Amino acid sequence: MNKYQINEKGYYGHFGGAYIPEILYRCVKELQDTYLTVLEDESFKREYHRLLNDYAGRPSPLYFARRMSDKYGCRLYLKREDLNHTGAHKINNTIGQILLARRMGKKRIIAETGAGQHGVATATVCALMDMPCVVYMGKTDVERQQPNVQRMQMLGAEVVPVTSGNMTLKDATNEAIRDWCCHPSDTFYIIGSTVGPHPYPDMVARLQSVISEEIKWQLAEKEGCDYPDQLVACVGGGSNAAGTIYHYLEDERVKITLAEAGGKGVDSGMSAATIRLGREGIIHGARTLLMQDADGQIEEPYSISAGLDYPGIGPIHAYLAEVKRAEVLAVNDDEALEAAFELTRLEGIIPALESAHALGALKKMHFSPSDVVVLTVSGRGDKDMDTYIKTFPK
Ligand SMILES: *Cc1c(COP(=O)(O)O)cnc(C)c1O
Repeated sequence: MNKYQINEKGYYGHFGGAYIPEILYRCVKELQDTYLTVLEDESFKREYHRLLNDYAGRPSPLYFARRMSDKYGCRLYLKREDLNHTGAHKINNTIGQILLARRMGKKRIIAETGAGQHGVATATVCALMDMPCVVYMGKTDVERQQPNVQRMQMLGAEVVPVTSGNMTLKDATNEAIRDWCCHPSDTFYIIGSTVGPHPYPDMVARLQSVISEEIKWQLAEKEGCDYPDQLVACVGGGSNAAGTIYHYLEDERVKITLAEAGGKGVDSGMSAATIRLGREGIIHGARTLLMQDADGQIEEPYSISAGLDYPGIGPIHAYLAEVKRAEVLAVNDDEALEAAFELTRLEGIIPALESAHALGALKKMHFSPSDVVVLTVSGRGDKDMDTYIKTFPK
């Protein structure tokens, strides 16, 4: 049992752990000692599920995609995280973490964001709970993701442009950690994916596990069997994927396929295929696979999708790939775009570019007609319309 969960030290195999500066030791320890008790507390669960249902709009539908099923020769279901409030799965996690922050007596929320999706989900719950919110965002991302910057500001968050490094997600995360070091006692850092020091990867996976909890009963209702043959999800840091597979990890009948961003091709020098290209290293408090050069300098990842270009990967996925519990496929920019247009035309659903990578993996997989396949559509495509319009096939 629990072969694929963290051990008592916060490791998946040799991935994970908490590599943090001395000054954060006490507050990370406090979080490690508190999170499970709170997450399993009945009154926390009641409040969390009430907000998931009435505020975020859960349960998200499990939709049988008939035309896509015909095309791929399987029974394909889409788990519709794109229909959540704020447009993606990220809200499942921010609702949970802000409830935890309040129970721990924290007064101030900080977050990092790349494309702005996690920043918006965090600013949203801070408005809801009337808590001050500071979001760190690379200056490059601030410039190219203006609509999300404006959303965060309208929601009352302070967006701080970060000018170090490449001015993207990695640099924003460094800056958020720096802020946390200055205010360890009153500030709660809401991390947006299954990354960061223990307990974040496990905590975020648990808060997203509502996805597979719902898939179970929804499949039982629709198929008369509560497990699929295959699960498919995209991985940036790995939170929607972790949520999708969580309750099926120990069930080896269920095959898991993860799609990472190949960018312009894994060997092109412009890629974010961390599991394929990464070597072991430490980033943002965890030991994991990391895109780095021969000297251990972090290499800048590239993907058409802002939510997938992170140089690291959640330690759970580094581990699942290593022990071959999950198969990892790299899906390139052009393959993701094609898949996004295909879903749009076959089912009338415009997916986020990140989710389009999971859809792009279908072409590389093998199915028999009776196979039940569940693919998580992590978010909707509104934020990606500029990119889609520029590449619209004539
Ligand atoms: C942020 C984001 C992702 C990538 O994050 P994970 O933690 O890997 O899930 C994927 N899809 C969408 C729509 C996102 O906003």
